[in-house]
Amino acid sequence: MNMFFDTHNHSQFSFDGGATTVEQSVKAAVDKGFGGICFTDHCDYFVPKMKEEFEPIVCEVFDVKAQQAEIDRVSGLVAEGAFGRAAAKKFKVLKGIEVGLYEDSRELNKNILAANSFDQVIASVHYLEDTDPYFGPYYKGKNWKEAYGRYLETLLREMRKLEDFDIMGHFDYIVRYAPYPKESIQYRDFPGLIDEILKYLIENGKGLEINTKTYRQYGLRTPQLDRDILIRYMELGGDILCLGSDSHKADQVGARFDYFAQYVKMFGFRRLGHFENRRLKMVTI
Ligand SMILES: [Zn+2]
Repeated sequence: MNMFFDTHNHSQFSFDGGATTVEQSVKAAVDKGFGGICFTDHCDYFVPKMKEEFEPIVCEVFDVKAQQAEIDRVSGLVAEGAFGRAAAKKFKVLKGIEVGLYEDSRELNKNILAANSFDQVIASVHYLEDTDPYFGPYYKGKNWKEAYGRYLETLLREMRKLEDFDIMGHFDYIVRYAPYPKESIQYRDFPGLIDEILKYLIENGKGLEINTKTYRQYGLRTPQLDRDILIRYMELGGDILCLGSDSHKADQVGARFDYFAQYVKMFGFRRLGHFENRRLKMVTI
């Protein structure tokens, strides 16, 4: 039994989350013995035009009121014992959002955060330089160092602009769909930039997400979480590690959490973080 919280999950309210529902993912987390799950549906105000070539552009900002009403309904079911007595006592269903950082969305992002209450806000970059890296053109004419470096620079610049968030999501997302043999973002390749990012998180009490979806196989490539980043994070005084599966299907909830909990323990981390009502909670692993 563990008390993991999965801090990053998509539901039917995300434009790409149609393969699961809040209720199904709650059941999956309860079945794994978790302490809770947070639904962080997509909020990307800016969607690059080039995406239209590959799929029709849809609104990528979820309906906050509808999502929160559904979370309240499912929380009620949990409390009534619909998912078992143990879950009724301890399991939490949390309200989150994944804010897509982009220069043109700065004001809109601030507005949606001010107009609603969330348990937890993830800030992340899905789009940059008017492209969607999932579809390739972002990497054209760039070597791996430029492609990964520009992503990290964008992430740092836009996080500083937003300020109002709890967890930095998938800092190495850009490696997932990259065409280079270089599979991972490693500390030794961007020491100054990664230090700046880690220091910003630490000084501002924000969490560093380990996005377990990033470390699975994509075609012939399997990105790795660079141990030197964890070691440096600890050296600088960081201790808010958050495990997020980035699930878009119920069977992905909590994927490889046992492995990554053991992995971070090896470096001396003893607790994992999540946020409730925008306040940090730490759970011993
Ligand atoms: Zn994301």
